[in-house]
Amino acid sequence: MTLAIYDTLTREVKPVTSTNGLTTMYCCGPTVYRDAHVGNLRTFVLSDLIRRSIEITGGTVNLIQNITDVGHMSEDVAGEDKMLSEARSKKRDPFEIARTFEARFHKDLEILNVKAAQKYPRASESIDLMLAMISQLISSGFAYVGSDNSVYFDARKFESYGAISGNRLDALKPGHRYEYTDEGGKKFHADWALWKMAGARSEMVWDSPWGRGFPGWHIECSAMSMHFLDDHVDVHVGGIDLRFPHHENERAQSNAISNTEIVNLWIHGEHLLFEGRKMSKSSGNVVLLSDISARNLDPLALRLNFLENRFRSQMDLTWESLETANTTLKRWRKKMAQWGASLETKVDESFLRAIESDLDTPRAIQRIRDVEKSSEISNSDKRAIFNYADQILALNLNHIEETKEISDLQQSLLDARSIARSQKRWDDSDALRTELEATGLEIKDDAKGQQWSWR
Ligand code: AMP
Ligand code: ZN
Repeated sequence: MTLAIYDTLTREVKPVTSTNGLTTMYCCGPTVYRDAHVGNLRTFVLSDLIRRSIEITGGTVNLIQNITDVGHMSEDVAGEDKMLSEARSKKRDPFEIARTFEARFHKDLEILNVKAAQKYPRASESIDLMLAMISQLISSGFAYVGSDNSVYFDARKFESYGAISGNRLDALKPGHRYEYTDEGGKKFHADWALWKMAGARSEMVWDSPWGRGFPGWHIECSAMSMHFLDDHVDVHVGGIDLRFPHHENERAQSNAISNTEIVNLWIHGEHLLFEGRKMSKSSGNVVLLSDISARNLDPLALRLNFLENRFRSQMDLTWESLETANTTLKRWRKKMAQWGASLETKVDESFLRAIESDLDTPRAIQRIRDVEKSSEISNSDKRAIFNYADQILALNLNHIEETKEISDLQQSLLDARSIARSQKRWDDSDALRTELEATGLEIKDDAKGQQWSWR
């Protein structure tokens, strides 16, 4: 395998490793107190892209993705577990919320053609694994029971702390945002809780040798990755915001236990903005996969948009870029149908080289566009190359688009509406829209004028 990807730890493009053809992968999963937004989905599609890139050359992948359903504290309110705060505001049971959003997360992944992981261990069902690891960390001197009886990792005991993010201990000042203010029993500001005392909290708490409580967020990923992947992770994936403190702390915990470098390659996907802004609930611009479908766009247009951008670059998603990707998808599928029906694949070296060079998907897609237009490649070869590329792109290029013709009546209603709009007869235009919608069409007006599609 010659696939090489940028490693955040060494800051170099490094080969993806395997043992006897098997690559172990861990991707930090969602915190299931809400739907995954398109930003989260970019990171999960990145993980799928890596997996498919390994598989296309015959490799096998064992992928584990955790489900965070306890211990992920809010960045805004001290002492607030994201799950419990959602449960309180919705007056629902926190586990019921977790199961609801977990199921919706799986559905979203399926729609985006993200292949299922081998396992999706839940934090709330991995408490024993975490307790065992915390006990080991205490006995080897890397963790201690704080003055509040919570258990903390002793950051100063782990020599290379800060290597992933560049946040070295001597530069980390007390009072920074990473420091949870409810962790009052620790000895040093950069230490973090492995196990927290329940205090007044009565839900999502478990017994432990140190008292009733709940796990910190970072320990779950060390416990699950080491347990399910047998103490060696070839590829570790997450969004860039997890680089610090989440992955820095995970690395310290895992390496402290094993005395080796557990993760071979730390891969971080850059963030996604929407129409130039960070997606946040407060600014009301959180976009979900269902919002894309609601606009009659193929959800795989989102996948194409992701792939048109390099994973290490911040990208800005817009409705316009989704519309354009949707049109491209339709065109490719139509051409595929014109080029034949064979399922044969033909390896395309230029496409593969682009993928292998640090997942250069924009270059890989440019190659696909060149193949589409080429006058030297036969139609059957074009189809075979598209079939090959689609094993990685996963855009359902084989899908046969419905090419339902519109009726004469529909055409005359469209013409009448177009005239009504040009004469600014908005009431007539609205009435004609209602008539058209009743015939099964969807009507949209944009800068180019009136657009229609089948609903
Ligand atoms: P969460 O559900 O908040 O735990 O996040 C799940 C994954 O989505 C993590 O890998 C995050 O780093 C990633 N993530 C969060 N926001 C974005 C964003 N705007 N763009 C890309 N990835 C994101
Ligand atoms: Zn994680």
